[in-house]
Amino acid sequence: MPRPTKITIDLTALRHNARCTATMAGSAKLMAAVKADAYGHGLLPCSEALSSIVDGFAVAVCEEAVVLREAGINLPILVLEGPFDGEDVLALGQYDLMSVVHAPHQLDLLEKSGTQNLPSLWIKVDTGMHRLGFDPGELPKIVAELQRQGARPVVITSHFADGENPDSALTVRQQARWQSVHQPTASATGSLANSAGLINRLAPNSEWVRPGIMLYGAAHAKPADAETLRPVMSLTSQVMALRAVPAGESVGYGGRWMTTRASRIATIPVGYGDGYPRSATDGTPVRVGNRICPVAGRVSMDMITVDVTDHPDCEIGTPVELWGQHLLVNEVAQYADTIGYELLTRLTGRTPRNWRS
Ligand SMILES: *Cc1c(COP(=O)(O)O)cnc(C)c1O
Repeated sequence: MPRPTKITIDLTALRHNARCTATMAGSAKLMAAVKADAYGHGLLPCSEALSSIVDGFAVAVCEEAVVLREAGINLPILVLEGPFDGEDVLALGQYDLMSVVHAPHQLDLLEKSGTQNLPSLWIKVDTGMHRLGFDPGELPKIVAELQRQGARPVVITSHFADGENPDSALTVRQQARWQSVHQPTASATGSLANSAGLINRLAPNSEWVRPGIMLYGAAHAKPADAETLRPVMSLTSQVMALRAVPAGESVGYGGRWMTTRASRIATIPVGYGDGYPRSATDGTPVRVGNRICPVAGRVSMDMITVDVTDHPDCEIGTPVELWGQHLLVNEVAQYADTIGYELLTRLTGRTPRNWRS
């Protein structure tokens, strides 16, 4: 008998989100970020579901791109971190992959193997994130050098550090630096926006947009915004045990949570061994039946405890949603001092995933 805990991936919601995103992208081409196993949703099932809607895929590293190609995906694929070594450069050519180039040592790697057979190179400019990329001032020299080497069309690219806050000094500074380097021409186009950049319309006139999180329906923190973009992943289970705990007792490891009244505690078979965050505080919302109830006590490896004192209908077998259609992953994340991205990508693999089309 398998325990009732499972992950459901709603591919219909994924396709719906991709169509909404394509509409928002207007004339820009849509590159779906499917790195990190499609944000925990399954690289191949998601990419296959998206392939008739999007114009390309973005992955972090060559290994992820090779998995897509070997599964028969023919759309353009961009490797966001570019090559780590000569073997990666060979893979770029062999599998027809577009690559980011973010540093001089990658230019050297490419020059050794020749750039002529690559579909296009994306030159990353550091507009203020200060993680990867060339100085804006170096760009003209690099583009000229690549064109001299016979490289295919060049895409100028950069990444927002704070796109969720369109008016922050950092975002405004990044936009200004972007405008100083991004002059679309026949041989050099641009790509700046991730989901936040697209939602907040921070990067007009780009050839490509590169959304990730919004495709999975996890770009919003308020249920009201969830109407257009729908959550794709649901982590669900059922109540496995129920007990009455008198006032003045503690529940769970370390005795962190104390009853202040005669209480009813439901135990759910999901824990940090599945990827439910151990950092979830008392009060983290859990949907039991159709009510939100608070986590009470520390998350264990295999179980959590929830205060269902105010939910008299709760019984063994009552359905539970940890996050998903009714309870946004970002709401849960706020109680665990993290973000939806992390909760989605750090599932451990113990819980089976089911893809529904
Ligand atoms: C992950 C990533 C994206 C997608 O970001 P979202 O916030 O998920 O939309 C876009 N561009 C780069 C460079 C990335 O690393």
